[in-house]
Amino acid sequence: MDNYNVDNRGFYGRYGGAYVPEILYKTVDDLRRAYLPVLESEDFQREYRGLLRDYVGRPSPLYYASRMSERYGCRLFLKREDLNHTGAHKINNALGQILLARRMGKTRIIAETGAGQHGVATATACALFGMPCTVYQGALDVQRQHMNVERMKMLGAEVVPVNTGNQTLKDATNEAIRDWCCHPAETFYIIGSTVGPHPYPDLVARLQSIISEELRWQLEEKVGRNYPDYLMACVGGGSNAAGTIYHYLDDERVKIVLAEAGGLGIDSGQTAASLQAGTVGILHGSKIKLMQTADGQIIEPYSISAGLDYPGTGPIHCHLSDTHRAKVVAVNDDEALRAAFELTRLEGIIPALESAHALGALPKMHFNPDDIVVLTVSGRGDKDLETYLKNV
Ligand SMILES: *Cc1c(COP(=O)(O)O)cnc(C)c1O
Repeated sequence: MDNYNVDNRGFYGRYGGAYVPEILYKTVDDLRRAYLPVLESEDFQREYRGLLRDYVGRPSPLYYASRMSERYGCRLFLKREDLNHTGAHKINNALGQILLARRMGKTRIIAETGAGQHGVATATACALFGMPCTVYQGALDVQRQHMNVERMKMLGAEVVPVNTGNQTLKDATNEAIRDWCCHPAETFYIIGSTVGPHPYPDLVARLQSIISEELRWQLEEKVGRNYPDYLMACVGGGSNAAGTIYHYLDDERVKIVLAEAGGLGIDSGQTAASLQAGTVGILHGSKIKLMQTADGQIIEPYSISAGLDYPGTGPIHCHLSDTHRAKVVAVNDDEALRAAFELTRLEGIIPALESAHALGALPKMHFNPDDIVVLTVSGRGDKDLETYLKNV
């Protein structure tokens, strides 16, 4: 049987690892040694779970969507990460990492952000603990994501616009890594998805695995068995999907469907579907599938959804795709938009554009009427209202 978890060298099959500059080697190695003992400690678990309950508002509901179920001929349940404090799953991870940072004696937090969602989650966690917070964001994204920039500032974070390269996420990441190299001893770098050098993908997957942990008892309660037939989630870097599938990875009764952003189509050159359109390379300290030219220059990804246009996909998902443990579907801009309006009108839930990509995979599936399908609604759509209004 394939092993879907990380091996002791930090790899998932051929993907992952920790390709970091020598100056960061010790810092990353300290994190690698620290994370499991901390995460497994009673003290961490008590504080983390207390915050998830009282601050984030967990458990997030598992909602039976009856009208959508009728539409797609299955029993569809929505895992409502959109109801979390700050409006998405990212807060689960940001809180976990800041608790780890404190236990490692770190005194300052840095992060990179594209659309600003991870920046807001990190700034929120930093406000909660009174930690200084610097967020790097591409200058173009600073303009495009004005509201999130203002939220981060209001929360007390310093937002640094990055003027190099295309002035987007990749450039912000480079700048964050540069900062980390200069202040490795006191700085904790909070990465927002299942990307980056080992142990980040495993760390983030474990912190998001609260999603599948809750699914087990919620399904038991609602349908009398603790596993579904299908799990569906959108994939940017891969964290909400990793959390959704974590406790079911080795359960072959459960089929996994990952929706990546097709943009204008996976062959159009305007896409973020790196699992299907990407090739193997190293980005952000990890061997993954990414969008690059023949000489290894990053190709700027494109998706209507800011949270999905990361140029690669985390090593966990690259491995699940290669081994066919997961079925990967590309959902294009127009399909995601249609799905967002459909959920809004059938269930009264306005999803984030990212989550709409998972919903946009539903018409591509062939379900049996009694199939139990769990789809993670990773975030709420308030931030995307302008895009929705432009596309009615
Ligand atoms: C950031 C984000 C995503 C994509 O990130 P993953 O790490 O792939 O989960 C998806 N949905 C929402 C709402 C987001 O904010």
